[in-house]
Amino acid sequence: MNKKVLEKYAELIVKVGLNLQKGQRLFIAAGLNTAPIVREVTAKAYQNGAPLVTVLWDDEELKKIRHQYAPRDSFEEFPEWVTTGVLENAKRGDAYLSVTGLNPDLLAGFDPELIALELKTRAKHFKPALNLISNGGVQWTVICPPTPKWAAKIFPELSEDKAVEKLWGVMKKLCRLDYDDPVSAWRKHLSDLSKRHDYLNEMQFDTLHFRGPGTDLKIGMPKDHIWKGGGSKTQSGVDFTANLPTEEVFSMPHKDRVEGTLRSTKPLNYFGNLVEDFNLTFEKGRVVEFSAKKGEETLKKMLDSDENAKQLGEVALVPYYSPISESGLIFFNTLYDENAACHLALGSAYRANIKNGLEMSDEELDAAGVNDSLIHVDFMIGSDEIDLDGITPDGSVIPLMKKGAWAFEV
Ligand code: ZN
Ligand code: ZN
Repeated sequence: MNKKVLEKYAELIVKVGLNLQKGQRLFIAAGLNTAPIVREVTAKAYQNGAPLVTVLWDDEELKKIRHQYAPRDSFEEFPEWVTTGVLENAKRGDAYLSVTGLNPDLLAGFDPELIALELKTRAKHFKPALNLISNGGVQWTVICPPTPKWAAKIFPELSEDKAVEKLWGVMKKLCRLDYDDPVSAWRKHLSDLSKRHDYLNEMQFDTLHFRGPGTDLKIGMPKDHIWKGGGSKTQSGVDFTANLPTEEVFSMPHKDRVEGTLRSTKPLNYFGNLVEDFNLTFEKGRVVEFSAKKGEETLKKMLDSDENAKQLGEVALVPYYSPISESGLIFFNTLYDENAACHLALGSAYRANIKNGLEMSDEELDAAGVNDSLIHVDFMIGSDEIDLDGITPDGSVIPLMKKGAWAFEV
C-alpha cells in the first residue's frame, strides 16, 4: 500500500472514526499483522494532542497454536489482567480502537465446541468492559485493514503480496479514500444515513416484513425502538463512527416477535468456520428449525451458545447499491460483508437501540423485548431481490426497500 493512502486512512480513523478529543488518551487492541496502520494512527493521535497511546498486541497464530496443543480442558482459562486493563482504560475515558484483519480460515477444521467455549469465556470476561464501551461510555471504532492471509482468501488466484495490494485498492473505494477529502465525504455520507434513521424513528413501525427468495419474515419491533446508523454519540455527547466503513441503519427486533423463514444470502463466518446457504425458521422470536448446506454443525453450536442465542438482537438495512456491495466480493469478514446487505444478528441487542435502554434493569430490558446473550453474530439476508415493507401500528403498509434499493426519499 502506499504511504499516502495509509495517512488518509489514519486521518479518517482519528477524525471521523474516533473523533479523538483534545487531551484524550487512546487505547488500541491490534493484531501484529496490522502494525503499519497502527503506527500511522498512533502518529496521527499524537499529532492531534493525545497524551498517551497504548497498544495491546495480539497474534492470531498464537490462537491457532492454543487450539493445536493446549489441554482440551483448559479453554475456560483467561488472563484477567487483559479485561481489567481494558475496563480501567474505558472507565478513565480513553477512546478505544480495535484493529483486526483476521485470517478467516484460522481455526478451520478445529473443534467447534472448543472454539465456542473459548469465545464464551472471552465474552464473559469482556462483558463489563464491552458494556461500558459499546453503550456509549467512550468513542470506539473497529477497522479491518488488509492482511496477507485474509486478502489471499478473497483473491485465491493471487500471491499473498499481490492479494494485499489488490485489497488495499478495493479498500480505498470502500473507505472513500479515493476522494480528495475523505473526511468531508464521510461527513456527507453519515448525514445521509442519519436522515434515513430519523425517518424510521419518526414512523415507529410495528412490524418489518422482508420478502425474497426463501425469505418471508415478519419482525416485530419493540415499543420505542431507536434506529441508529452512520455516526454515534457517547453518553457525554461526543460524535464518533463505530464502524469504518459503514453503510447500515440498524435497530433491534422484539426478541419474542419474529415469525417466518429466512434464507441467508452470503456465508456467515463464525471465527474461521463458514456457514453457507442456511435457512432459519422462527416462532415467537426463537429459531425452531435450521438447516445449512455447509457448516450446519457450526451453526448448531452457535445457536446453542446460551439460552438466548436463538433470538435476534439486530435488524439492519443496507441498500444493495453501496460501494461494498458493488465490489461484488465476499470478504469473509463481517465488517465488510454486513455493510453489503441487509442483515440480522443472532444474540445480544444494543441497549442504545431502545429508549432509556441504558438505564433499564435487566428485568425491564427483558420485558421490553431486548435480547441479551453472550453472542452477537451478524448474517446477511439482503440482495437485489429483497423487498421490505414497514407496517405501522394502525396497519398501513409502507414500502421501505424494493429489489434491494431504498423505496423512500429523505
Ligand atoms: Zn449491523
Ligand atoms: Zn451486528
